[in-house]
Amino acid sequence: MPQRRGQRRSSTTMAPNDRRVEEQVEAAVKAAKAAFPIWSSKSPLERSQILNKLADLIEHDLEAFAQAESKDQGKTITFARTVDIPRAVYNFRFFASSILHHTTECTEMPTMGCIHYTSRTPVGVAGLISPWNLPLYLLTWKIAPAIACGNTVVAKPSEMTSVTAWMMCKLLEKAGIPHGVVNVVFGTGSKAGEALVCHPDVPLISFTGSTLTAQRITEKSAPHCKQLSLELGGKNPAIIFDDADLTQCIPTTLRSSFANQGEICLCTSRIFVQRGIYNEFLKRFVAEAKKWKVGDPSDPTVDVGALISKEHLEKVRNYVKKAQAEGARVLCGEGVDSLALPAGNQKGYFMLPTVITEVKDESCCMQEEIFGPVTCVVAFDTEEEVIERANGVKYGLAATVWSSNVGRVHRVARRLQCGWVWTNCWLVRDLNLPFGGMKASGIGREGAKDSYEFFTEVKTITIKH
Ligand code: NAD
Repeated sequence: MPQRRGQRRSSTTMAPNDRRVEEQVEAAVKAAKAAFPIWSSKSPLERSQILNKLADLIEHDLEAFAQAESKDQGKTITFARTVDIPRAVYNFRFFASSILHHTTECTEMPTMGCIHYTSRTPVGVAGLISPWNLPLYLLTWKIAPAIACGNTVVAKPSEMTSVTAWMMCKLLEKAGIPHGVVNVVFGTGSKAGEALVCHPDVPLISFTGSTLTAQRITEKSAPHCKQLSLELGGKNPAIIFDDADLTQCIPTTLRSSFANQGEICLCTSRIFVQRGIYNEFLKRFVAEAKKWKVGDPSDPTVDVGALISKEHLEKVRNYVKKAQAEGARVLCGEGVDSLALPAGNQKGYFMLPTVITEVKDESCCMQEEIFGPVTCVVAFDTEEEVIERANGVKYGLAATVWSSNVGRVHRVARRLQCGWVWTNCWLVRDLNLPFGGMKASGIGREGAKDSYEFFTEVKTITIKH
């Protein structure tokens, strides 16, 4: 069983020796290629039934999966139980259903005596690469649509958090998934990931991870003209106007800043508050942030678990130090008094929810993705000004807007450069709708229709009659 992030001194990888990993990627692609003709010829209904069966099996073992995810990743058991594993189950159920409802297009040209229609077919072997923050949740967000569409897959979970992927593998046969349809390789990005990206028999890569890794994947896959879907980092703003309902806004913005230790690509890390309510917001927000309980991830009363690794904790804390060196104020958070933690957690990678203020827009804390429990709060005056400042980063993944003025929320939402805008809420998802980022936050969209389009090839056929 995995150790706990909360107990580890330093991160480890689960990679077997690298040469063997490359051989495993080769074997996995070969198996996926061999399984493709059988799997792709099954009807959507047959595939749908198998996906639903896999969902049932994961759901049956939900508690074991949640325990493993929490211990492996450092996230709280409550988050794993209520978000990660239920969503992994739902990913299979959702695509099992949506694959039954797609239609293709047809047009007529009566004067030419022609009809045109489109047909969609699976692409082949899909390479799927996922990060460590929502391990099974994000891996299944790729596996489910890929196999629902009739592709076979080689999936590579993060080497930091591979345990639940391994547990899922043990259920594949029982679910009725034929040998070779879902292959999981365990290894580092530089070896297993790159071997997959460069493999000539893998025409399509769906990747979720950092913008830096995406650049390398783009470069490496370019000679093969692969189709890429890239879900990348964010530097997400929350914009809070002075007519916002703070009783809703404050708890939700705490959650959007610190849920899963701030290790969600959609987390808020820049909070723009209109000047009229700035002091009140800050006072209430900081008071509530101080109440968040940090500690043993297996304790169901804990709100913030351990960060993924010692290196990541140091990186996140360094951002706070840099902000202080630039003259910013840290109003709460940062280091945990380890002696106040249970004995078994005292060497873990914990950090308090941290609120920084008096920070300039050009500061690295306002420009770069920190990916930890750190959020910056700054004041603004006008709608025009805040739109420009919110858009003034290289990322464009998500934003939240808080206001009771309906006209304003529509106006602002339309002008924000990001793939998803939540108004007066956060992380309310409908998997039917496109998900993805603008600018350095990604290329392409995933969701019911978008994933279907990505994981299939379209062909137009003209019939003259
Ligand atoms: P990462 O880019 O370091 O790694 C992601 C995956 O890519 C891992 O499986 C890793 O092994 C693999 N990888 C690394 N180098 C590779 C290479 N050269 N070739 C092929 N694969 C390689 O990201 P991470 O640190 O695991 O995850 C955190 C990042 O993911 C953050 O930037 C976060 O914003 C982003 N993220 C984005 C979304 C989204 O939906 N937009 C969701 C979750 C996380």
